[in-house]
Amino acid sequence: MKRYGIREVFATLQGEGALAGSPAVFLRFAGCNLGYDVCPWCDTDWEKAEYLEPVSGVLELVHRAAVQGFGGVLPGTLLVATGGEPSLQLDAPLSDALRAAGFRIAMESNGSRSVDRSLVDWLTVSPKQNGFAQKEGDELKIVFSGSTVPGPAPDVEAVRRLVADTRFSHYFLQPVDLPGQGPNYTQTVAAVMELGPPWRLSVQTHKVIGIQ
Ligand code: SF4
Repeated sequence: MKRYGIREVFATLQGEGALAGSPAVFLRFAGCNLGYDVCPWCDTDWEKAEYLEPVSGVLELVHRAAVQGFGGVLPGTLLVATGGEPSLQLDAPLSDALRAAGFRIAMESNGSRSVDRSLVDWLTVSPKQNGFAQKEGDELKIVFSGSTVPGPAPDVEAVRRLVADTRFSHYFLQPVDLPGQGPNYTQTVAAVMELGPPWRLSVQTHKVIGIQ
């Protein structure tokens, strides 16, 4: 029986992007195909699987988090499949079971591999390398790394090159949040103003208001 490696499951508000402010259960999968060498500023702990569960066990974890956070699963509750890299594990049996339980599935992928969009109701791609595979989806969220740390978006020209031939409904630039330095708001705001529409600033509001 297939088991899914899960890092953590919790109920909160989605903090970033076009769905910011939405109540959501976060299902954080363990494992990433890129890793801390590619993204030394990565702010998530995805290495160790806290749970190894079949579909039924994942559903139980998710349901428990929804009950703790919201008192239950209201139809249409957002399930944010994240990681690590969630496309490594989310498959049809798990997607079907989560939808049958009433969830709307939003995936946050690094875009390095193609995502089967039939598995999700909302797809956010946040590429961490110059070359990435998943060029279309609901929102593209670029971490504006600036020139002092590794990343595919050191400046506005690099952002323009990165998004050539992409088709997304929403385009966001988000400050990199460096340990000990905080988000580079000033540079990122200036870049969004230079880029113009359809670009928007994405702020990690969960960090601003102090929730998980
Ligand atoms: S792709 Fe995402 S989860 Fe993986 S190391 Fe980079 S920032 Fe972290």
